[in-house]
Amino acid sequence: MMHKANSEQPNQFRTVSLREVLQAMPKVDLHRHLEGSLRLETLAEVAYEHGVDLPSYDIEELRPLVQMVESDPYDFHHFLEKFKLLRRFYSCREAVERVAYEAVADAAKDNVQYLELRFSPASLAMAQDFSLDEVTEWVIQAVHRAQQDYQITVGLIVSILRDFGHEVAEHVTEVAIAYRRQGIVGLDLAGDEVRYPGKPFAKLFHRAKAEGLGITVHAGEAMGPERVHEAITLLEADRIGHGVRTIENSDVLQLVLKRDIALEVCPTSNLQTGVVSSLGMHPLRDLYRLGVHVTLNTDDPSVSNTTLTDEYVVAIQHIGLTMIELKNIILKGIQAAFLPAREKARLEKRLTRALGLETPSRFRWRFWE
Ligand SMILES: [Zn+2]
Repeated sequence: MMHKANSEQPNQFRTVSLREVLQAMPKVDLHRHLEGSLRLETLAEVAYEHGVDLPSYDIEELRPLVQMVESDPYDFHHFLEKFKLLRRFYSCREAVERVAYEAVADAAKDNVQYLELRFSPASLAMAQDFSLDEVTEWVIQAVHRAQQDYQITVGLIVSILRDFGHEVAEHVTEVAIAYRRQGIVGLDLAGDEVRYPGKPFAKLFHRAKAEGLGITVHAGEAMGPERVHEAITLLEADRIGHGVRTIENSDVLQLVLKRDIALEVCPTSNLQTGVVSSLGMHPLRDLYRLGVHVTLNTDDPSVSNTTLTDEYVVAIQHIGLTMIELKNIILKGIQAAFLPAREKARLEKRLTRALGLETPSRFRWRFWE
């Protein structure tokens, strides 16, 4: 793709960089946490205006407290620590609505056309003892507004945090079910998978599934493929958050293939949590070529200081995917979306055309294999 430099130099063309091509590409993000998507400027402003007690209100001094920086060790628990301070910022309704609105706006500016944004009502509610219902309504309203202002479709996923215990998880599940006709499309299990197995939450996920919610479970990230197995067989997961360590066990790999379980892969996050030792060692390409239903996502754009465009650059430059493979992965995102079949088909058709993949993806998949 080339553009004319200006009208006075009709024969002058400039080279378009890979980043620009990928930035312009329509995108799908199925795994993005609201709590990991806060703009640093917003953090500083909200904290200052609402008197949130912080060591500093300067953006650069705040940065290492809420974002992975060069001096940080690449470690799962260290990564999770960043969210503890972030919870102090949900100080009022305006703050919750603002971060939800901006999370969608930022995705739209990165040309994300379909976003599943997940949030933990309990995390948003805890600083000021808000009710889970009210914070959920604020997020829904803000996201609805952002969808009217930007060209983007958003589904909301409610996250249960393993660390908050079973009683909170029960309330969160009820909230997710209660608001399923107002934009909540799925239920997620997040938090510390090392210390808290998924099994105790199984009944909640069965109930959510019976009520029509999509099920996604963080697994096979800090822990091995046994957690992926647990998520599929005990929690009835439709998709796995990360799940990259599936590749370590051929039985679990076969299970994922047989049931067409989509993996929500987030490469930069995997590097920063120490799941992979380098981006070049990331198993995304191997998983794709083995036929696993992989999708490519951000996880926590602000904590990881990344965008979906950055992740696409990583996929091509460091992981070694071809452009056609990347485009197929974007379509696989839509195919795994928690959307009604008709809406999914409509979006898939639109994206297929926009990505220049006019032949059906099934045919193309075989051809490239
Ligand atoms: Zn996540």
